[in-house]
Amino acid sequence: MAVATLTIDLNNLVENWRALDACSAASVETAAVVKADGYGLDAGRVSAALAKGGVKTFFVAVAEEGIAVRNSVGKEAEIYVFSGCCGDDAALLKNYNLIPLLNSPEQVKEFLPNGQAFGIQLDSGMNRLGMEPAEFASLREQIATAGPKLVMSHLACADEPDHPQNKAQLECFREMTEGLTARRSLSATGGTLLGADYHFDLNRPGVGLYGGEPFSDAKAVVGLSIPVIQTRNVIKGETVGYGANWTATRDSKVATIASGYADGLIRAIGNGNLNLYAGDTPCPLIGRVSMDLITVDVTELDTVPDHLDLLNDIQTVDHLADAAGTIGYEILTSLGARYNRVYKG
Ligand SMILES: *Cc1c(COP(=O)(O)O)cnc(C)c1O
Repeated sequence: MAVATLTIDLNNLVENWRALDACSAASVETAAVVKADGYGLDAGRVSAALAKGGVKTFFVAVAEEGIAVRNSVGKEAEIYVFSGCCGDDAALLKNYNLIPLLNSPEQVKEFLPNGQAFGIQLDSGMNRLGMEPAEFASLREQIATAGPKLVMSHLACADEPDHPQNKAQLECFREMTEGLTARRSLSATGGTLLGADYHFDLNRPGVGLYGGEPFSDAKAVVGLSIPVIQTRNVIKGETVGYGANWTATRDSKVATIASGYADGLIRAIGNGNLNLYAGDTPCPLIGRVSMDLITVDVTELDTVPDHLDLLNDIQTVDHLADAAGTIGYEILTSLGARYNRVYKG
């Protein structure tokens, strides 16, 4: 087979959830964010594994994503929708029992008369989604009477513990929600790690579950093993790949492997110092990443194996992200459709 194998370790996913859950008091619920198809790993499989592991509450970005999650977690779990009730979402929200996080006065006016379960999303300083303090104040009585299931906001800088905006948003959220009886939630992965002040009643980590920063103690969830489809000798002074970007400084052995930017290995990962692994032995990625192929310096290997690993316990999505000048989230959600996907656990 000449396609790469993406291994998704569902046991480690559940262990990451348990570890994040252990960061907060027993009274604080730890939910799971499974938007963007479970950060690219298959929302249905990911949420089924998490539900089995004990997760009772899930979050998706848009109502359509709630279908796969509802189908795999059963009737009891709560599924919240960050985008609230947009356009013609009403039927989906009702049929799949999804809870919109209403984020504007318009959504509140539209949805409350339905009498269905809802949550509220407040803006405490990120200025992306949610009602501003003044908007919320004018609707607070009406909302409180209707009984939201959750009142939430989102931190803009939680991956930087010392950033002053964290405390500012915490204060703003406290002021806006003081005296409400509804359950409250402020923190994703980053906020979960900021400590008890940020925990309220429910944390909603995403990326940490999938093994990404800022949860540096996370276990690796994805592995990527790429078949070697050709090996050649390159003489000192010859170049490899598009743009003749890499020049051999010694007589070398080069392996060509079957993955590229069309598989989500964005071209910019070629800008960093990444390795492919033959077991524990690192072999430098050389030359430019092309659409379906990557070249690797395997001069140091006595025998070239059938496959080389790009993602493993040593080299994670965050290393790829650093090389490419992006974040682990983008690497995860870019992982391509061409891989042979194997789920462990
Ligand atoms: C994506 C998202 C999360 C999860 O964030 P992570 O950084 O992946 O843990 C939580 N809340 C909101 C509002 C989000 O958009």
